[in-house]
Order: sequence, then structure tokens, then C-alpha cells
Amino acid sequence: MISKRVSEMLKSRVLYPLAREYNVRAAGAINLASNESPYGPSPRVLRALKREVARVGSYPDPRATELRQAIGSYIGVESKCVVIGNGSDELVDLACKAFLNPGERELIPLPTFAMYELACRVNGGVPKFFELSNFEWRAPELMRALKGTKLAFIGRPNNPTGNSIRLRDLRKLLASRKLIIVDEAYAEFADDSVAKLATKTGNLLVLRTFSKAFGLAGLRVGYAVGNPKLIEALEGIRAPFNVNRLAQAAAIAALRDKRYLRRVVARVRLGKTYIRRELTKLGFRVLPSDANFLMVDVGSLELDASEVCDFLAERKIFVRDLSNFRGAGPNYVRITVGTPRQNGRLVGELKKLEGGVK
Ligand code: PMP
Repeated sequence: MISKRVSEMLKSRVLYPLAREYNVRAAGAINLASNESPYGPSPRVLRALKREVARVGSYPDPRATELRQAIGSYIGVESKCVVIGNGSDELVDLACKAFLNPGERELIPLPTFAMYELACRVNGGVPKFFELSNFEWRAPELMRALKGTKLAFIGRPNNPTGNSIRLRDLRKLLASRKLIIVDEAYAEFADDSVAKLATKTGNLLVLRTFSKAFGLAGLRVGYAVGNPKLIEALEGIRAPFNVNRLAQAAAIAALRDKRYLRRVVARVRLGKTYIRRELTKLGFRVLPSDANFLMVDVGSLELDASEVCDFLAERKIFVRDLSNFRGAGPNYVRITVGTPRQNGRLVGELKKLEGGVK
């Protein structure tokens, strides 16, 4: 009964690698595994949600007119260049549906976010993996890798490496005329975006989300920005009520509180600097990151990722073991920046690791 491609996916266990904190919700636990904002949403969002709750008996605006306008003015583009999704996860899937024919290849530089591969396979595409050497984005290598593909997914900043392809290198990829989908889930932390450029470029689509800096991960709101032709295709195939009424109201309110957003981003940056400094002192190699997380080489202390994650999990701190991320190898963990207290606890526990895992 199950389609051949889904049976194959289930058999080869190409599934979304859920972080283990979803199984452990112990009191006092600190989740630094999912790249959420430790500060949650603005109080204005909570007030908007309370107001909207009374209206859940009626369907949401199927065109999300107000939200798309608010996003348009946030990014500086017209609302016809914006389509909304149930998290940017949905837009990754819709983009594969809209732009890949069965059997066509999608370039996935590794290591990266697992959804690019899953959505590709579910939609009948064929992933073409390319391991970034030294986790670096080099245009000539990427240009060669693009050959024979229909489109490419590029995280900018990339999850889990945290780094970003340079604008001039991205422009080189765009000159190939292949469709380049740039995932900017963490763009607010990087303060760098090509979303505006996308509206003027025929082959660039940018994905964004309210799940990270805006703190709305539980509500599932994402969006894509691009030229109206690409956007129209996505708009045409999304389900009419894919983003619910509460989520739309919350996202509009979140965009109205830019001060809150700036404060969150500033605090996260301070936290990131603190974790980087302290972990480097302990002897870990910490990769440069433009996002709200850090990729850390625990092999530099002759440890492997699962040992470190187990050690921290016993102390109710959850970080992401990257050994089940394709192309990351056994020695890396990804740590989301938390509140100063959470970051302090993390560093305190890691100090106890000196001399090995006991
Ligand atoms: N893109 C990247 C790079 C991510 O890390 C994530 C979340 N982990 C997403 C997209 C999906 O975010 P959401 O569906 O919550 O918008």
C-alpha cells in the first residue's frame, strides 16, 4: 500500500533525527538542543494570543493578508513576494513539490538541516550530497557540485555549522541559473539577509521563520520570499489554512515589537561570546557561528559527541549530538545559546569533564 519511495525511506531509516530532549522533560532540565530562543516571545505576542483565542471558532484568513503585509514591510518587499507556511519546514517541502520533477537532483551541502533531504525524497527527488571541506563554503567546489542538479538548499547561516556562504560566492551560484533556496532561519542573529535580493532575482528563494529569534517555535509560522512567479507557485499548492489563526495573530504582534527582538538578539550574542570563550579555555575547538548556536569539536579533548551528550544529559542539560547528522562525523555537538544562567550551568558542568568522562 505504501509508495515505493516512502517504503524505501522507512526501511533505510531516513527520518528526521529528533533530539532526545523530546523524551526527557524533567523538572529543571535545560534544553540547549533545538535552537529555540531561551526568552520565548514578546509579551505583546501573549496579549495578542489571549485576544485571538475567542475567535478560534472561525477559520483563519486563507490569504493571511495582514501577516503578509507585516512581513513585507519587515523585509522591505511587496506582499506578493511573500508566502506563509506552517513553519519553514512546510516551505522546504512545498519548494520540493513545486520545483523538483520526479528523479531530478537536489544539491545538499553537508552537514546541514535534515529536512532538505527528507523533503527531497518524499517528493520523488534525488539528493546529491556534497561534503563541505573543513565545513567551509567555497564557490568553485559548490559550482562543480551543482552540475546535474535542478536546485540547491543552502543554509545561511547553516545548521549545524553556524557559518554562512559569502554574498559574492552566493552570487556565483546564482549565475548558474539553477534554483538556489537559501534558508535564513537564523538570519536575525546574523543581521544579514538576501531576502530583498530574492524578489529581484529569478532563481533565488529565501526561507525565513518565526521559530528562532521571535520565539514562536510552538506556533509554526514560516515564510518564503522570492519573485512573484516563484511565490505564486508555492501559494498555489499550499493548503488554504496552513497557518492557523493564533499563529497569524502572534506573528503580526511579534513583528510589532522590534525592541524586544533587538534585545533578544543582543543577549544571545553576549551568551554566544561567553560560551565560546569559556569552552575555548577548556580546550574545545568552537567553530565560528553567525547563528544562536555553536558547533563544538569535542574530539579536541579526545572525547566523542555521544559521551559528552550523555554526560550532560545525566545532569539534565541537553545538547545536540551531531553524530547522527549526515556528514558531521562522531566528534561534534551543537549547543544552543541559552540564558546567562543556563550558559553558566553548561560551562560549570563541562568544567567537570576535564580529565575525561567519569
Ligand atoms: N531551517 C533550519 C536551518 C532549521 O534549523 C530549522 C529548525 N530547526 C528550520 C528550518 C525549521 O524551522 P521551522 O519549521 O520551525 O520554521
